[in-house]
Amino acid sequence: MKRIFLSFVFGFLAFVVVLLCASAQEKPAAKTIKAIRFGKLWDAKGKLWTNAIVIVEGDRIKAVTSDTSTIPTGAEVIDLSKYTGLPGLIDVHTHMTIYTDETPGVPMLKQLTNPPAIEVFLARKGALRTLEAGVTTVRDLGADQYMDIAMRDLINRGEMIGPRMFVCGYGLYITNTPYKPGQNPPAGGIADGVPEVLRVVRQQIAAGADVIKMYASTGTDDDTTGFQTYNYEEIKAAVDAAHQFGKKIAIHSYGPDGARDAVRAGTDSLEHATDLDDATIAEMAKRGTFYVPTIDHNRYYLDNWQKIGYADGFQEKTKAFIARNLEAAHKAHKAGVKFAMGSDAIYTMFGENTRELAWFVKAGMTPEQALRTATANAAELLGKEKELGAVASGHFADLIAVEGDPLSDINVAINNVRWVMKGGVVEADKTKTQVR
Ligand SMILES: [Zn+2]
Repeated sequence: MKRIFLSFVFGFLAFVVVLLCASAQEKPAAKTIKAIRFGKLWDAKGKLWTNAIVIVEGDRIKAVTSDTSTIPTGAEVIDLSKYTGLPGLIDVHTHMTIYTDETPGVPMLKQLTNPPAIEVFLARKGALRTLEAGVTTVRDLGADQYMDIAMRDLINRGEMIGPRMFVCGYGLYITNTPYKPGQNPPAGGIADGVPEVLRVVRQQIAAGADVIKMYASTGTDDDTTGFQTYNYEEIKAAVDAAHQFGKKIAIHSYGPDGARDAVRAGTDSLEHATDLDDATIAEMAKRGTFYVPTIDHNRYYLDNWQKIGYADGFQEKTKAFIARNLEAAHKAHKAGVKFAMGSDAIYTMFGENTRELAWFVKAGMTPEQALRTATANAAELLGKEKELGAVASGHFADLIAVEGDPLSDINVAINNVRWVMKGGVVEADKTKTQVR
């Protein structure tokens, strides 16, 4: 009995050893090479492929081909030939850490009082929804207490599932905290005057920010005023300090005055911005300043204002703002200004990130031009055009599959994302559940 037991144990151990050896030897070779087949593939490099094969090794694209004989032996073949492939999309304006559940009876504005660790943990749901919408990279433009840096790093370490994040820490604000007896709000991004602007920019970079954000006008949530806050000298100081450290800067302006000075000071991107004057638009086209109009977030506010907790009565002004925002986008597009897609996703808007693309088509873009704002252009704005925003050799293997033709109908890219790969890992797959 004992001998039988022992031989069983040894037999089992030998079996385990064989398994371990087999997996140690075969895993890296067999599992890390993938060949993904698409019926059509728009690569954001100017080519629409038919029967494309994307060879992925580890987290990178090794080759794009239509020659089946080049599929390496042992590669895992993923057949998405029913679908159109696109590069993973990039949203250049999010607030990933400002995520709220729709807890019944609790307005979203009142849900943001948790300790940072809880906020970041809750934000994983918005991150997942963003990824499922086909957004594999975001530029996150404003968070408290460096929750964005924590989230970015958790995602990079594989501890949280979400899009690759480029973050700014605190956005720079002028003094704007109302007096409240007994309260001592953290200074965060508050900076007045050139020396403080320099200090706060440097503080964000020291904390690990990838990009700098500055609020050069009023306007947020249900407030659509656009009064300039920072003057030209302060804006120029922030731009130069960011650039000195190799960082780009995004400047928020709801109105034309902050926008005018931001563009003249050399901002890399202008966020929101209505009522742009012709000279500023011409200057943006000349300098290559990216315009990130974020038209759709005001639509989201109108759709969800009661759940968010805004006071009734703001709607007419917000509707008028949307019309002016669209008009500015229309003019800027006609003048040859470069656009990048930014949703300004916040609260429960995650997953609706790419609805902005439909506004771009309304503003006069073809669907292909709109797709470019969320791929090649966005990657250029991030300074990552060699790694992101295209399906090309050496780029990160960020790929999505959509059902239909996004080049004839932009809604296909917005609503029909069926499969998402980020860095060579399949993060969402609705192709199988679609079958029956
Ligand atoms: Zn924002």
